[in-house]
Amino acid sequence: MDSSNPKFLEVTATHTGDGFDNSQGDLIRSLKREIKGLKGKVTAQDIRIFEMQALLQSGKGLSNILNLPHLLDTFMAVVRERYDLTNSSVLLKEDFENGEKEHFQVMRYFGLEDHYIDSMGRKEPLYLFRIEKNNGLLWQLIQQGNVFSVRDLQKEPRFTTAWEKLGLDVLRSDFWCPLIKSGEVIGVLTLGERRDGTQISETDYSFVQELASLATTIIDSTLRYEKNQRILNNIQILYDFHQELSTINDFKLLCRETIRNAVKAVKAQKGNLMLLNRQTGKLELTVAWGYIDENVLEGLNSGRIETKSFDIGEGIAGQSALQRKSVVVNNRDDIPQMGSFETYCICSVPVLNGGQLEGIMNFTNKVHIEKDGSAVLDTLGRFTREDLSLLQGIADQSAVSLHKSRLYSASITDRLTGLNNSRHFEDTFYELAAKAVVEDKPLSLVICDIDHFKQFNDKHGHKAGDFILKSVASVFMDLRRQGHQDQAYRYGGEEFCLVMPETTAEEAILLLEEFREKIAKKDFVYENLNLKVTVSVGISQTGLHTKDPRALFNMADDAMYECKRNGRNQVRIAKLVPPTSTDSDKDSGEKQVG
Ligand code: GH3
Ligand code: MG
Ligand code: MG
Repeated sequence: MDSSNPKFLEVTATHTGDGFDNSQGDLIRSLKREIKGLKGKVTAQDIRIFEMQALLQSGKGLSNILNLPHLLDTFMAVVRERYDLTNSSVLLKEDFENGEKEHFQVMRYFGLEDHYIDSMGRKEPLYLFRIEKNNGLLWQLIQQGNVFSVRDLQKEPRFTTAWEKLGLDVLRSDFWCPLIKSGEVIGVLTLGERRDGTQISETDYSFVQELASLATTIIDSTLRYEKNQRILNNIQILYDFHQELSTINDFKLLCRETIRNAVKAVKAQKGNLMLLNRQTGKLELTVAWGYIDENVLEGLNSGRIETKSFDIGEGIAGQSALQRKSVVVNNRDDIPQMGSFETYCICSVPVLNGGQLEGIMNFTNKVHIEKDGSAVLDTLGRFTREDLSLLQGIADQSAVSLHKSRLYSASITDRLTGLNNSRHFEDTFYELAAKAVVEDKPLSLVICDIDHFKQFNDKHGHKAGDFILKSVASVFMDLRRQGHQDQAYRYGGEEFCLVMPETTAEEAILLLEEFREKIAKKDFVYENLNLKVTVSVGISQTGLHTKDPRALFNMADDAMYECKRNGRNQVRIAKLVPPTSTDSDKDSGEKQVG
């Protein structure tokens, strides 16, 4: 019979009542049942239509949101509203490296405590709560993609092992809804009990199930959108960095700019560059930068604060060097805590030039950058995969420049003292002096020679002599003033030069007199011996003495030899008379006195 025909139903309904025979009675009863069934179906359809409309509305609402936290909050709110739930949370797949295992971490929650006690007994923010993906029953169910209850009617956990191991009490959930996109679990929506304490029956799951599949698509697009934004941003950072690199020649500056850019790019709290010392085979700190105390930074960069060197394979930096790949530790428990800094996460990235290790860049902790540019430690932040690929990009870009610049730096540096060498003096002094003359600015040239150094060597040995050269050079190097373009060189065996642009001889002599006195007073302790040396210093100045750089050099040299002739251990400004050929013949002058 065609029960869907409304006319037929009307007619049969008028004939119901007493006085019919048995077969008619059966027919009527079966018709009544049919009608009742139909009414039920209509009601179910009404509910379905209502739900579909609600879904449509919710879906529309969700699809307009491109901000992940807002999206998740709305998604949870719609579900909670629909079932009148007390709490909910969304866990999403972590986008950062954390060992081999995949983890799902709380991204948003509602109606739950803000903290939980972790397995070590520490109170941690709920945003750090994460569960590890494994092969257990719980994960098998998640992977199937259907909503399922995690507690039975007695409120007992259905997956006791996983429950205990993962500490799932924290989420106070009754049932879970997997968020699956193209067969891959991207997250889980956990839902707590209803306000009236009743359980949601399985037949009621369809709303959350369908809304979740819609929401998952939107969450996935939002994640992709945010990721693409970050990738675009990272490309811009790499491009800008590339532009900046090409303008830097100075090795130290290059190192500093590399680290500064890298720290800013990934919003690390601090970073440093350790270069491989090929003589010792150790990784040595070259430069540090970060959002930390400026005094500490200055101390690290000047060598005032001693830092540990790492062997290849030692520590996280050493591991990165050994494996020639990035190493990241995002789990605080796996990081050895040193000093007063609390370390939440750390990563090391190798700087490789054509497969050859130049050094390692290390980064610790993440920060939030406030509107005013200040940085606040982000204890929840961790190094993401994108951070690592960005850092590797920066490391790769700087590797060639660092390598070239390091070779260049080595070629202009005196090995024993670390001062610029005489070749670099030739390359730079004449240019600096000529520039000062053209610009009509004073430039002072200082020549310093250790007194009776031959005798010193003869008495204490060549090694002690080397030690003195290094020690005096180190004090000499400190003569360079901050904010000035001062350059210090080892010109010859025991002779040092200092070029001081925009400085008069009168200004220079004050500094050099201090220096002379310091050296004369100093006990140089070598192998339990207190050794003493003195220096003789000559100074000349562009404009004041001569405009000719070569003559300027000769005049400073003459002034220095004048000191020698007058008893050594003194500082003199060159005489204001042009040198004659015999004056500049230092050998003859020196021999007469010495
Ligand atoms: P004066 O006071 O006149 O300068 O006397 P002096 O002995 O210092 O000068 P002289 O030029 O006669 O000797 C310089 C000495 O410096 C000779 C050499 O043994 C020493 N010397 C040069 N380079 C080095 C070095 O790299 N290491 C050591 N240990 N000694 C060096
Ligand atoms: Mg000499
Ligand atoms: Mg000498």
